[in-house]
Amino acid sequence: MNVLAPATWRNLTAYIPLLAYILFACAIALIGYQGFRKIENLIQVEKLRDLGAIADMKVEQIVTWRERHRQRAKTFSSGSLLAAEFKLWLEKGKPSDEQEQKILRLLTGLQPIHGYATASLLDRQGMLRITTGNSNTLDEAEVKLALEAMNGRQPIFSDIDKNGIGSQMASLSLAAPLVDAHDKNSQVVGAIVLQIDPYDFLYPLIQSWPGESHSAETLLIRQEGDEVVFINELRHQKGTALSLRIPLSTPDLPAAMAIHGARSTMNGIDYRGVPVVAAMRQVPDSAWFMIAKVDRDEIFAPISQLKRWAASLGLASAAFGGLFFFVWLRGVQVRQKLLKAEHDAALEREMRIRHFEFLTRYANDIILVSDETGRIVDANVRAVETYGYTREELLRMRIPDICSAAGDHAAHGGQVKKILESVELRFEDIHMGKDGRRFPVEVSARVIEVQNIRYIQVIIRDLSERKQLEEMRAKMEHAGRLNIAGEMASGMAHELSQPLTACNNYLEVCLRRMEEETWDREKLRSTLQLASIQAERAGKIINHLKDMVRKQGHERALIDVNLLAREVMSLLEDEIKRLGISIYMTLSPLPPVMACRVEIEQVLLNLYKNAIEAMHSWPQRELRVSSALTESGKVLIAVSDSGKGILPSEMENLFNPFHTTKKDGLGLGLVICRSIVENHGGQIWVTAKREFGAEFCFTLPVEVRHE
Ligand code: ADP
Repeated sequence: MNVLAPATWRNLTAYIPLLAYILFACAIALIGYQGFRKIENLIQVEKLRDLGAIADMKVEQIVTWRERHRQRAKTFSSGSLLAAEFKLWLEKGKPSDEQEQKILRLLTGLQPIHGYATASLLDRQGMLRITTGNSNTLDEAEVKLALEAMNGRQPIFSDIDKNGIGSQMASLSLAAPLVDAHDKNSQVVGAIVLQIDPYDFLYPLIQSWPGESHSAETLLIRQEGDEVVFINELRHQKGTALSLRIPLSTPDLPAAMAIHGARSTMNGIDYRGVPVVAAMRQVPDSAWFMIAKVDRDEIFAPISQLKRWAASLGLASAAFGGLFFFVWLRGVQVRQKLLKAEHDAALEREMRIRHFEFLTRYANDIILVSDETGRIVDANVRAVETYGYTREELLRMRIPDICSAAGDHAAHGGQVKKILESVELRFEDIHMGKDGRRFPVEVSARVIEVQNIRYIQVIIRDLSERKQLEEMRAKMEHAGRLNIAGEMASGMAHELSQPLTACNNYLEVCLRRMEEETWDREKLRSTLQLASIQAERAGKIINHLKDMVRKQGHERALIDVNLLAREVMSLLEDEIKRLGISIYMTLSPLPPVMACRVEIEQVLLNLYKNAIEAMHSWPQRELRVSSALTESGKVLIAVSDSGKGILPSEMENLFNPFHTTKKDGLGLGLVICRSIVENHGGQIWVTAKREFGAEFCFTLPVEVRHE
């Protein structure tokens, strides 16, 4: 089962070339290694063959050299002049005469010709009789060798040994019997012992190397007990002839291996502890072994150089490859990132398009898209539902066809031009469906650009429902006002009774004064004026009621609220005096406010009257009116009293209709006040004073909106 996500797989596949490169590099390295191993083996085999040939050659040369000496020695055994002379001299009793000198000359003559160090003659008993050497005696071993030669009637070689006790010089001896040729029994008359200097021929022969080499050498070795003895001088260690001894058990020592019967080794370790390749041979008729060896380093030097080159090349290629792949991978990663970003962006675009298509298709509004000529290129579901045309029919129409269905075609054709010019346009219009139904619409059109082509996107809202709702609300409001007016009628009776009673009282006073014989014309006029003011006030209240019932609002004009506050207060002058209320008016300069004078008067009068009534049964009677301009630029009027105050439980119902605590109250005054203030775009609220009394505040905007 594939448990990796596709994206993970995609990321991993990017690494396949890298993996291939690593595998390829490993394969090359392995092949190179194997190749080098093979070449090394070939070189080793070749070298061993050379070494073997050299060892064979040297062995042969030693054998030849020995044989030559042996043959030469044989000449002394087969009736030589020397043997005859020596026999005579011995028979004469070994006198120190001319004959002895002759024999000595013969011996001395032999030395330079054959390279003998000394030549000595021994009698049949092994006694030294004549010698070219400095000593009057011979080594025991040499005497023994001479006796052996005489007994065996054959020339015999000694081994190479130190030349005498304490001597560092090596030598070997050749002993040959001296046979009297004239004797019919071939009698042995004595022996000749010839000391051979190995430094003269043998060692140079061993040490010479055919060809150029800085490490190759041939060695002559023999076994002595548990040790290997190096017979000749070594190339890499001086003064070693017959001195250097190494245990036979030393592992990988070619000399020890030779004694054990081996003929070659590729992994020998020589007397210096250096790895060597060696060929070993036994020298026939002797205890000697010839070893030809060369350092492994030397034979592999050319290939080592090649190896270093190959390794450097390999490392350089790996580094270059690594760098290349690093750069390549970075590229791949950047490409992947870009692709992912593109993919994500495409997905998001796709999602947005789908989302937009969905919104457009199922939007609550009609959405039409047209080209610059007004031809419809797209229409949503709502358009089809509202106009009653099929989508295909709509796509064959132009925007003016739909709009002009209900009006002037030319005018609507001009609208397309207008939209194109002004980019965005909003207006209300009447459209008509396929069935002839006309309906009000709000059109919002704007120019959009897609790939440098301009389109007109038209969003059309069917206002039929909204208009119906508005009409219904207006009707309900009208009905509500009628209702309130009805409710208010009884309240108005109460409101009107006061100015009418006052008016009636003033008129009665006038009538009474006119019945008097003399009446003051001026007093009568002022009383009548008072009656007129009260009548006018009553008229205003009635007019206002009429306005409330009519749904239109009062005419608005710029009014001075401070002046109005004072005027309304003057209407209540009598009552204020009667109840002994102190009035404090703190009015700040205010800008004129666009408002309905009668309505604001009504608000003020209501607030003043409530305040006065709240103080009826209260000993301290203070009515304060203040005005100010708020920071937000509204006019603020505050009416506060020192009356009974408002209970917290009352607070929330205060502005609800019919909430009253008065015996004859209607509970409509504050409702009307709020309606008026809010209708002017202001607010009204109450704050209960901490100790006693209440404070009613309302604001009016200077720039009044017409709600
Ligand atoms: P009404 O005056 O007919 O009762 P309002 O709507 O004008 O109707 O007032 C409603 C109630 O609010 C009053 O009955 C009264 O209890 C309370 N009220 C109004 N103004 C004050 C005030 N200044 N102090 C205390 N109570 C008040």
